[in-house]
Amino acid sequence: MAETADNVDPQEIRKFAALASRWWDPHSEFKPLHDINPLRLNYIDQHSPLNGQRVLDVGCGGGLLSEAMALRGADVTGIDMGEAPLAVAQLHAEQSGASVRYLHRTAEAMSDAEAGSYDIVTCLEMLEHVPDPAAVVAACAKLVKPGGQVYFSTLNRTPKSFLFAIVGAEYVLRLLPRGTHEYAKFIRPSELESWIRASGLTLRDLTGMHYNPVLRYYWLGPGVGVNYMVRCSRDD
Ligand code: SAH
Repeated sequence: MAETADNVDPQEIRKFAALASRWWDPHSEFKPLHDINPLRLNYIDQHSPLNGQRVLDVGCGGGLLSEAMALRGADVTGIDMGEAPLAVAQLHAEQSGASVRYLHRTAEAMSDAEAGSYDIVTCLEMLEHVPDPAAVVAACAKLVKPGGQVYFSTLNRTPKSFLFAIVGAEYVLRLLPRGTHEYAKFIRPSELESWIRASGLTLRDLTGMHYNPVLRYYWLGPGVGVNYMVRCSRDD
């Protein structure tokens, strides 16, 4: 398997690098992320009001969520291992006037130096692209302050997610390039929950993230068979 000692799969990084220039185009391959961005932003802001908080966005890509959180008044650091998405994120922030600190770094690499430094850590649509997602969860748990909150979102490993997230999105609707997602890397909520528990976090909420590009329905609610989001807290 193509992976490096620092828990980065270069093939995954290349996939996102190839598309990076279109990151902020809402009609591009990133349309799904644009469409769900307000949902997840509001969910985070509702549970942990962003204004004035120190936030770390792990696997920030071109910065859709990082910028949106900064515009809600958070002091945001976005980290990613892709140079190209980071360059796009940086340029977009300069143009939009959003203030975000972007760094080329893994969560694991910064987890010693910046342990306990963030009120909120977000890691969305990223765990299914790394060789060892449990290690990313543990690093996020270390980076958040005691009393802080951590958010993850990813894709479940079910026949339904295979049908919707791969067959539907990549082959039928062609929303995403073929090969964007690998079924074997999808994560069951029970697996994510066990990594959350092992890292000392407490699971507070688990909700489905529903996306119907044809009917243009996007909502959070029961049903975690495809995409889902979790909120955890560090209670020590
Ligand atoms: N979180 C963003 C982007 C998701 S795309 C959003 O939801 O809008 C997944 C991103 O994870 C890509 O930008 C990719 O470069 C990044 N990535 C993959 N492996 C990574 C790693 N080990 N550490 C940090 N970022 C990584």
